[in-house]
Amino acid sequence: MELVLYNTLTRKKEVFTPLRPDEVGFYVCGPTVYDLAHIGNARPVLVFDVLYRLLKRHFAQVTYVRNITDVDDKINAAAAEKGEAIGELTKRTTQAFHEDMAALGALPPDIEPRATEHIAAMVAMIARLIEKGHAYVADGHVLFEVGTMPDYGRLSGKNRDELIAGARVEIAPYKKDPADFVLWKPSDPEIPGWESPWGRGRPGWHIECSTMSGAYLGETFDIHGGGRDLVFPHHENEIAQSCCAHDGKPFARYWVHNGFLNVNSEKMSKSIGNVLTVRTLLQQAQGETVRFAMLSTHYRQPLNWSDETLVQAKEKLDRLYTALRQAGDVPSKDAAIPEAIEAALLDDLHTPEALSALAGLASALNKAETEAEKADAKGKLLAAGAALGLLQQDPEAWFRWWPAGETQLDATEIERLIALRDKARMAKDFKEADRIRDALAAKGILLEDRGGKTIWRHAG
Ligand code: AMP
Ligand code: ZN
Repeated sequence: MELVLYNTLTRKKEVFTPLRPDEVGFYVCGPTVYDLAHIGNARPVLVFDVLYRLLKRHFAQVTYVRNITDVDDKINAAAAEKGEAIGELTKRTTQAFHEDMAALGALPPDIEPRATEHIAAMVAMIARLIEKGHAYVADGHVLFEVGTMPDYGRLSGKNRDELIAGARVEIAPYKKDPADFVLWKPSDPEIPGWESPWGRGRPGWHIECSTMSGAYLGETFDIHGGGRDLVFPHHENEIAQSCCAHDGKPFARYWVHNGFLNVNSEKMSKSIGNVLTVRTLLQQAQGETVRFAMLSTHYRQPLNWSDETLVQAKEKLDRLYTALRQAGDVPSKDAAIPEAIEAALLDDLHTPEALSALAGLASALNKAETEAEKADAKGKLLAAGAALGLLQQDPEAWFRWWPAGETQLDATEIERLIALRDKARMAKDFKEADRIRDALAAKGILLEDRGGKTIWRHAG
């Protein structure tokens, strides 16, 4: 089976073949660590987690590199505003990012380089660009001269005027051309800086990713990912820097970009006050619900996040977990990932189709009669879930999860009330039995009578 990916560089779907047989190098732009991750930041993490899992199934060696941008002017501004040391802020935010992404079931990358640990390599790359005539020093800055790169603008498909307008360049009299961008800038004594041939300063954002991807994956590598918003200028500039520093050798071969995520049809922004953090969402829903909701839209489509998105995802996951729960303790038979799921994922990560196929596997499990049929159907459903990073919970635990802030009923107390209701029913006191059921429902506990046994779950 072939993997097909939409390549932003060629604007078409292409069959993916790695540079070296059976080995894949894959880089994704990671977070700038100055604040908690919002749900938009989680989109590339989850989309590329699905790709990572898929690549690992089809290629013997996959190296997934996702960086941490821990030097950036947004970080300096946030630390000053909070009165916190920069190192503390980046450490705390990185840890929160790891916790949040783990809660969403995202596998950690193989390598997670930090920009501050690669400054020497950035300085060396900038020096090489100057030496080769692609960059110049002006007023304590080093700038990349875009006019020296004939292919500049190829990834984003922008013309020169759009490039200049899109670069949103501040008026900088030292630039030869308004589209030139910063590789190195001077640092005042109170902000982070490193010694360099051009004085004490810090790197521009784009050179960080060119340096870190090259350091772990080589000059030319297979896949580079990130959100659509990064196509220009970030990725365009990464290509310019890397190709020019490496004598025109190609940089990433396949460029994969996820679409943007809006909340209630609006762009998330601090000024509107609609920034939805992953942390907040995880109080309202389980990680798998957020993950299911995210993957319900194809990664290249824009995604409009609303309360309804979570409700629908929860309903669908409940149905899958119900099938597993009803199958009881039947041991699942090891199964390959069902064809329908794998074919959907290999077709440019068609997660919506893969998720619908899960529903079919759950119905098959519901219909299974013999132990052998159940073991087989359960194995298939679990294997398919694992391919998507779903159905990783014990079904009982799934249904007993509580949103934060709701008064939590103790499980023993619930069992006690169920026993009382059973007693009432045996005594044909249906009024009392219904009263207990309704009282539990009012607290969000739903009862289901099945095969002489009553099981409960939380409605939230
Ligand atoms: P940042 O920390 O802003 O550099 O972003 C980290 C990653 O999140 C990048 O790949 C961005 O493209 C992506 N990203 C940020 N906001 C959104 C959004 N609203 N929708 C989708 N992706 C986003
Ligand atoms: Zn990057």
